[in-house]
Amino acid sequence: MRRSWLPVVLSAALLTAACTDSGPKPRATDSAAPSASPSPAGPDYSAWAAGRSTPVADPVYPNYGNPGIDVLHYGLDLAWQPETKTLTGTATLQLRAAADLTEVKLDFSKAYALDKVTLNGVAAGGTVADTKLTVPAAVAKDAFATLVVKYHGTPTTVPMPSHRGDAEPLGLTVTEDGGLWTMQEPYGAGTWYPVNDQPSDKALYDISVTVPDGWSAIANGTPKGQDGNTFKYASTEPVASYLTTLAVGKYKKETATGPHGIPLTYWYRQGTDDKALPYLRKSPQYLEWLEKHFGPYPFDSAGIVMVPSTSGMETQQMITMGLPEADSDADFKRGFEADVVHEYAHQWFGDTVTTTNWNDLWLNEGWAFYAQHLYTNERDKVTAKQWEDWARGRDARLREKIGPPGKPKADSFAESNVYLCPALMLHQIHKQIGDAAFFAMATDWAQKNRGTNQDRASFIAFVNQHTGKDFTSLINTWLDSPTTPK
Ligand SMILES: [Zn+2]
Repeated sequence: MRRSWLPVVLSAALLTAACTDSGPKPRATDSAAPSASPSPAGPDYSAWAAGRSTPVADPVYPNYGNPGIDVLHYGLDLAWQPETKTLTGTATLQLRAAADLTEVKLDFSKAYALDKVTLNGVAAGGTVADTKLTVPAAVAKDAFATLVVKYHGTPTTVPMPSHRGDAEPLGLTVTEDGGLWTMQEPYGAGTWYPVNDQPSDKALYDISVTVPDGWSAIANGTPKGQDGNTFKYASTEPVASYLTTLAVGKYKKETATGPHGIPLTYWYRQGTDDKALPYLRKSPQYLEWLEKHFGPYPFDSAGIVMVPSTSGMETQQMITMGLPEADSDADFKRGFEADVVHEYAHQWFGDTVTTTNWNDLWLNEGWAFYAQHLYTNERDKVTAKQWEDWARGRDARLREKIGPPGKPKADSFAESNVYLCPALMLHQIHKQIGDAAFFAMATDWAQKNRGTNQDRASFIAFVNQHTGKDFTSLINTWLDSPTTPK
């Protein structure tokens, strides 16, 4: 998720400094195959082995997710009717019981009526209450099961647990003209399908969406073509639920080719998103810059879908972008490009390598924010020293106002401290080991951990092992100190 005001603030601060003190001027998963299925008549679950995870209970949002369930694959067949604002869905989940289960409990919106629920082909009663679907069926630990849920209803959003100025409701949002879009970090995927909505349970996805003539449907994953008015997408690399996306609207589509042939798709609304277009079209350059620093783009397609939000989200293989509010055209240009680079950087840091739990959101945002600023510092000819001076000033105020980034409060999701403070921590490591060792470490972190979840302990172990130095104290201090470390 982006922080749109920060690059603007940086440029303003530097420009002010240049005017007043004539300082230097800125020119412009566990991938083991599931063991044999104990139900010999069932499907071959090894086909979805890449979706196997080690789910955990979330320490910040324990009401979301179920550590007893490991969903391997979601098959979502959806149809959207703009006139009646009705979403009709069949969700087919191949799952593994990660513990002995007496019931199958998933996150799902009570806005939907259940039309039919089956478990392993047998009709199973199901109820939706509060934010949970409960299916009363026992599944033994490590057994596989196929849950099919047919449902329909009008989507409703859930509040974002945040004090951010740009906070918007989470989940599938219906626009006045009958379109759809979603952003759902840290949770909210249950507003459109039954889901184990916690980042440690990554899974594979096949999504098909049927819309009326003249409408387009866009989702995360690799585009798999269009069959009449049905749009298809497949994620063959594991995806965390907060990184899935769905948008329906009267879109224009543009295709392009990124570095070494990566297919790119830009979806935009003519007349509405025109000022974003030059930056969507610069995607090949952004990806090239990111690959130079962090190794190959980790997926087999990329793209951006524009939506009526003021935020942006790093949804996997298809970034979801709104137009930020900007004071001037110049601010928009600088800020929006930084935002797009930020969401692309997340494909390496957050998407292929994902935080295990929401306490370690800094692990996603610190890297993405640092990558974004390395890019804009190069673009704006801002030196590392200028950047650090600016960032230290902000860091001090953020720690004082919001606290250190290592233990965020549940009601203050994604405040600025989890972006800037860990980026400054990465900068300290960068300065100590130099460019070559730092970018080799960053590249290996993303490339060798593809498709996994990671947390603070595994990050510290990785950095120490990779650099041959002990950064334990430096990292913990930057994550936990109430004041800016020296
Ligand atoms: Zn972000």
